[in-house]
Amino acid sequence: MHLSIKILIGLILGVIGGLIAGPTAVPWMKVWIAPIGTIFINLIKMVIVPVVLASIVAGVASIGDVKKLGRVGVKIMIFYLATTAFAVAIGLMFGTLMQPGKGLTIPAGAKAASKMAPPLQDVLVNIIPSNPFVAMEKGDMLQIIVFAIFLGIGITMVGAKAKPVEDFFNGLAEVTYKIIDMIMSFAPFGVFALMMPVVAVNGPKVLLPLASVVAAMYIASIVHAVVVYSGTVATLGGMSPVRFFKGIAPAMLVAFSTCSSGATLPVTLKCTQENLGVRKDVSSFCLPLGATVNMDGTAIYCGLAALFVAQAYGIELNAGQYMTIILTGTLASIGAAGVPGAGLIMLTLVLTSVGLPIEGVALIAGIDRVLDMARTTLNITGDAAGCVVVQNSESKS
Ligand code: ASP
Repeated sequence: MHLSIKILIGLILGVIGGLIAGPTAVPWMKVWIAPIGTIFINLIKMVIVPVVLASIVAGVASIGDVKKLGRVGVKIMIFYLATTAFAVAIGLMFGTLMQPGKGLTIPAGAKAASKMAPPLQDVLVNIIPSNPFVAMEKGDMLQIIVFAIFLGIGITMVGAKAKPVEDFFNGLAEVTYKIIDMIMSFAPFGVFALMMPVVAVNGPKVLLPLASVVAAMYIASIVHAVVVYSGTVATLGGMSPVRFFKGIAPAMLVAFSTCSSGATLPVTLKCTQENLGVRKDVSSFCLPLGATVNMDGTAIYCGLAALFVAQAYGIELNAGQYMTIILTGTLASIGAAGVPGAGLIMLTLVLTSVGLPIEGVALIAGIDRVLDMARTTLNITGDAAGCVVVQNSESKS
């Protein structure tokens, strides 16, 4: 049986199990089910830093000339930024059409459950690691990416003398891919164990009051995937959308259940290389970059959630504020880390930029996990679509 079918079965069984077990079974699940999910997440986390470092160094070095690297880099960043800005706009559109915040009574004394997003200049300055080993220890992906790109460019410029270094990182990348294979065979169980407690705790009843924001998020995500990804993959990527979605499906399922682009990265790499036939030099550069900076799902969420909060508080927004939301939503999604719940923190950036009450975050914090599932799934699908497009344009140039 295909791995993605097995993962899907794990997911469905987890949902059914969670519904049957209900909230009363949570203490029991904490002991017997949740640890299996945690083990799965830890296994994936274990390989993230080595896989990002090795695959970006190997990817950059294999591109082989600095000019081509710049070209691939510019192309992928244009794709990532354009699709992200579009995503915020889609979020705003569905927020306007479906009015998810209308009629919501604001709980008295609702307090922001999250930390404030860091100021923009800090995000930019902190991209450069003052110590790459500390960056790896902290698992700071942007910093690791910057260091890896420098290493890869260094290897390219030094040439023959740096061959052993290049071979080392190539070998390390292969080894980490093998480890991922091993971990993935455990994925159906991991996904089951992650889903069951979430469903048991949140249940269908708790979701009902906020069902419309959840519905808006899922519909907007599907529209974005169908319009933007099918469209770009078919026209610019030269690939049938059916093949694309089929190939990336296992990664989508892992993203859906882990709520982490970073944790899904190893699987995204595997799917794009093996199922979509994207060359390693393109995918191993574009995907780790995308997992950190390209988050269309998070962008949709920022647009949608900002409108949701405005509607709940009865605040009218003007055209300028809509533009500001598109800009800050794009930046917030770039700044968000590929970990569960990051989008919720970055939402504060968007809310403050247009003067909406930060306390609004508390309104949707309770269902963030359910929204995060859609966000993360779309986030990694967008990375893969970018890869397919860039690979196709590179094969022509
Ligand atoms: N969980 C998302 C991701 O890893 C980020 C977010 O919270 O929006 O892609």
